[in-house]
Amino acid sequence: MAMKRAVGLDIGGSWIRAALGDQEGRILKRSVRRVARGSPDRFVSQVICIIKEICGGDFGEVEGIGIGAAGRLDIRKGSLEFSPHASLKSVPLKDAIEAEFRRPAVVLNDCVAAAVAEGAVGAGRGMGNLAYVGIGTGIGSGIMVDGRVLLGKDGNAHEVGHMIIDLEGRLRCNCGGLGHWEAYTSGSGIPKFARYLSEGFSGVSRLAETLKGGGGERIEAKEIFSAAYGGDPFAKLVIERAAEINAKAFANIVNMYDPETITVGGGLALKNPSLTVDPVAQALPRLCFNAPPRVMTTPLGEDAPLVGALLSAFGSVRSKVIPQLG
Ligand SMILES: [Zn+2]
Repeated sequence: MAMKRAVGLDIGGSWIRAALGDQEGRILKRSVRRVARGSPDRFVSQVICIIKEICGGDFGEVEGIGIGAAGRLDIRKGSLEFSPHASLKSVPLKDAIEAEFRRPAVVLNDCVAAAVAEGAVGAGRGMGNLAYVGIGTGIGSGIMVDGRVLLGKDGNAHEVGHMIIDLEGRLRCNCGGLGHWEAYTSGSGIPKFARYLSEGFSGVSRLAETLKGGGGERIEAKEIFSAAYGGDPFAKLVIERAAEINAKAFANIVNMYDPETITVGGGLALKNPSLTVDPVAQALPRLCFNAPPRVMTTPLGEDAPLVGALLSAFGSVRSKVIPQLG
C-alpha cells in the first residue's frame, strides 16, 4: 500500500511555506512564496496554486491539507479572520481549499501547529503537557494540556503575545492594544521598546543617541541584537530588560498551564538563543509558582509550524491531539 501523504502550509506575515510530507512529519518536497497582498481572493488563489505546485497534479495519495496561519482565526469556519502583519481579513481558507481539492482541510494557528509537531516528533514527544512559544515578528504560542492542544471558542486559546505585561500600557501593540507582551520583546516590538528606554539612558551609546527623540525609524531588532553582541551598553540593557519581560510572561504561561517542557521557536529566538532563550530558562525558577519546566530552543527549528500543519492534516493525528476538530 502506498504511503499516506499530506500537504502542510505555514502562512506567516510575509511568506507562505508549503510541504508535502508523511505521517512521521518527514518533508518530501517544499516550496516558499511571498504572500500576495491585496484581496482575500488573490490570497486564496495563491494558496491553491502553491498546493497544486507541491503535489505536482497527483492528489491520489494526499489525505488532507493542514494549515498553520499567523493571525486571529475562526476555527469552525476555518477562516483567517485577521492577520495584522499580512493585512488580510476574513479569508475562507478551509471552504476554498476543500471545494478545490475535495480533501479535508484544517486551519490552526501557526504556533498551535508547532505545538502539535513538538508533541508528535519534537522535544515533547510522548509528553501530554507542553508549550511552544514563537518569538518572531510577533509572539505566539501553542499549548498542549493533558494530551490535547487547546483551541478555545474560536481557536485562539493561546494568544499569549497579547497578554498584558505592562500595567502602565506604555507601548502600543500592532493589534492596537496597550501593554501587550509582543509590543515589547518581539521582532517588531524591540525597536519600539528600545526607543522608549533610550529616553532614560544617560550612558554612552551610539544606538541610544540614534533612537532618542523618536529617531532611528528604520532600526530593526537584528541591529539591536548585533549592537548587544558588539558590547554596546544600551543595547545590552534593552536585551536584558526584554529577557526579564520574556521570563515573566513565560512564568505566567507556566503557572497557567503547568507544562513539562517549553520549546521556543520563531526567527528572533532561533537566531539569538543565548540572549533570548537561555536567560528565560535561568530566571524561571525564581519567577514560577508551579514547578519550572525545561525551556529549550525547538529542535524542529523554523520548520516547527510547517511540520505541525502537515501532521494535523492526518486524521489519525487529529483524532489524538485535536479531537475537537474530528
Ligand atoms: Zn496586542
